[in-house]
Amino acid sequence: MRMRTILVTGSEGQIGSELVPALRRIYGDSNVIASDIKVSPNSAGQGPYERLDVTDGRALMETAKKYRVDTIIHLAALLSATAETKPLAAWQINMNGLLNALEAARECKCRFFMPSSIGVFGPATPKKNTPQVTVQRPATMYGINKLSGELLCDYYHRKYGVDTRGLRFPGLISHAAPPGGGTTDYAVEMYFAAVERGSYTSYIAEGTYLDMMYMPDAIRAVIQLLEADESRLTCRNAYNVTAMSVSPEMIAEAIRRHIPTFTVTYCPDPARQAIADSWPDGMDCSAAQADWGFRPEYDLEKMTEDMLSNIAARVRQST
Ligand code: NAD
Repeated sequence: MRMRTILVTGSEGQIGSELVPALRRIYGDSNVIASDIKVSPNSAGQGPYERLDVTDGRALMETAKKYRVDTIIHLAALLSATAETKPLAAWQINMNGLLNALEAARECKCRFFMPSSIGVFGPATPKKNTPQVTVQRPATMYGINKLSGELLCDYYHRKYGVDTRGLRFPGLISHAAPPGGGTTDYAVEMYFAAVERGSYTSYIAEGTYLDMMYMPDAIRAVIQLLEADESRLTCRNAYNVTAMSVSPEMIAEAIRRHIPTFTVTYCPDPARQAIADSWPDGMDCSAAQADWGFRPEYDLEKMTEDMLSNIAARVRQST
């Protein structure tokens, strides 16, 4: 693996707080520059941190030049549920922030990674085994931003030769950092509620299938795609990746195999339910498998076991 100097934007979020330590283990602490709009970062101390608002194009460019980065991982964004409540702010951060990051990548000749999302699909998209290339008419501001972002990555690759790479992430499940306002956050909440209270009220209805992936698989996929042979990549916008297609009651059932008394009631939130209903039930990941060998390690059972034991250990520590 070659050495890299990597700038990570939005590093203090759900993905960044696990991705940055993983990158630092591989590329060295000082070669991974964490950055976020937050003033007091959790990642401070282990390596460089810059307070950076991605809507400030000049600051982003200066930071990339200051550290002579050769790779940019652009995570800063407003997520699906938050973006629906603040659509103009979402456009500003998700679109202008991305454009600023792509410009820095172009100027500094960086490899570029952006996580896209299942949100790029919409009600007209085939819901089952959703193809890599298919109808994309998203119904949310977040989806519109992510789809436009994918097209921009394609454009910067074709027009300027920027080495853009992306993943269409499903809902990501993690015990380490809290999720940041996505539609699939219910899954993470359910695991914590099971351990802490023994019951949960789901804002997503029974029978709603959505793609999910455990964070260790997501982190591994980012690094694997980052290091993939350029000549093998057929998609420069973003690859479909998922590990499981699950409904709330399937997660509840998996939890009950460890905590038999766990109960779930359903009280769907119309806004988030509408977003979930417009997304695929399950994506086809064959392009990611063929081009760079994507293969998740965690299924629902294995993830549930790991989530519950980690949350239980944390609860024991705090009492
Ligand atoms: P998050 O909300 O947990 O973190 C986003 C981070 O961006 C936060 O730390 C926030 O402070 C920062 N941020 C917000 N505005 C900023 C600005 N103007 N300048 C700099 N930083 C700013 O999100 P996450 O779950 O870590 O997601 C990271 C990326 O992955 C996003 O692009 C998101 O769309 C994508 N994604 C996430 C999921 C998921 O389930 N977590 C799924 C699909 C795609």
